[in-house]
Amino acid sequence: RAYFDWNATAPLRAVARDAMVEALAEGGNASSVHAEGRAARGRLEKARAQVAALVGADAKSVIFTSGATEANALALTPALEAGGRKAPRDRLFVSAVEHPSVLAGGRFAPEQIDTLPVDANGLVDLDALTAMLAKAERPLVSVLLANNETGVIQPIRVIADIVHAANGLLHVDAVQGAGRIPCDMAALGADLLSLSSHKLGGPQGAGALVRRSDIHMADPLIRGGGQERGYRAGTENVPALAGFGAAAEAARTAREGDSVRMAALRDRLEDGITAATPEAVIFGAAAPRLPNTSLVAVPGLKAETALIAFDLKGIALSSGSACSSGKVQASHVLAAMGVEPALASGALRISLGWETAETDVEKLLTAWNTVVSTLLKRQPNIAA
Ligand code: PLP
Repeated sequence: RAYFDWNATAPLRAVARDAMVEALAEGGNASSVHAEGRAARGRLEKARAQVAALVGADAKSVIFTSGATEANALALTPALEAGGRKAPRDRLFVSAVEHPSVLAGGRFAPEQIDTLPVDANGLVDLDALTAMLAKAERPLVSVLLANNETGVIQPIRVIADIVHAANGLLHVDAVQGAGRIPCDMAALGADLLSLSSHKLGGPQGAGALVRRSDIHMADPLIRGGGQERGYRAGTENVPALAGFGAAAEAARTAREGDSVRMAALRDRLEDGITAATPEAVIFGAAAPRLPNTSLVAVPGLKAETALIAFDLKGIALSSGSACSSGKVQASHVLAAMGVEPALASGALRISLGWETAETDVEKLLTAWNTVVSTLLKRQPNIAA
């Protein structure tokens, strides 16, 4: 099979599996004082340092969570403190192309949330951002580093400067960017940053919120035993977090080489697709994009039918929008970019990873010709 759905989840890296197996075999509660507990604590703190290194942060700044969804929910609160002082946020601004876990707005009430418009390439409208922030006293802004559907990369440093000049704080969902493009928290200017283990080759169900060291969320989501510096109570999932740490380290050390290789394969794919179907549209192509992601639509082609046809040929693709419970929904990302619903409903996401080989790309291009021409012939009324 050829797997092209790395933005949904990546296969587990061998180093992550090894770290998990060892942690499972050794056991221990990281809060216990005895030798077994101290060993578990050692594994947990090693993972924390590995995750921190991925984003150039201090290990103390890493709060482990059950994933990026929880990290986003933890970050998006009015009850922020900065520099040891209360700094409550009066409004939340989220870009229109955020992941649903950010669009949900955390603990902000719906009437406190504004949506930042994007241009036809999916980039945040910086003039609109500046104008909208003027309406808030102490805004919190959430913009993702790279979009999960299109791969479009936001100018986070520029956005951070605008936000900070407006007395604001910036949260960055770096789930899709981390491990693929530079993701140094200080260089980005992010005050809070979310990560997910399973996009990096770690297990699912683990993630982190990384905070600027002087930022504090005064209302944690889960209270109890005081683990994770009181931000998240409950015995830590040491095996999963050990896997996350190992994956983060592998992603950091392999990033540059992997990115160059993936970009070359992605370019080969896009060239092949546009040569075979010149009418194909590649969304966000005029903006900076991740090296691994292509979101493509062919007028008249329905994503659902195409996905099944490719699946039967041993190729795993995704429709534009992440389909949470298997259902394909219209993409809010493409809608925000002003894409016609008919074209958006045909969007196919092709995402590559560190194990993608040239033979996978050739397999997809060979299948592309037959699948697309067969399906377009079957839907002549739409294709016309
Ligand atoms: N943010 C983005 C941009 C994502 O792509 C995803 C996963 O699809 C998430 C957040 C959620 O991550 P998790 O699966 O760890 O909750």
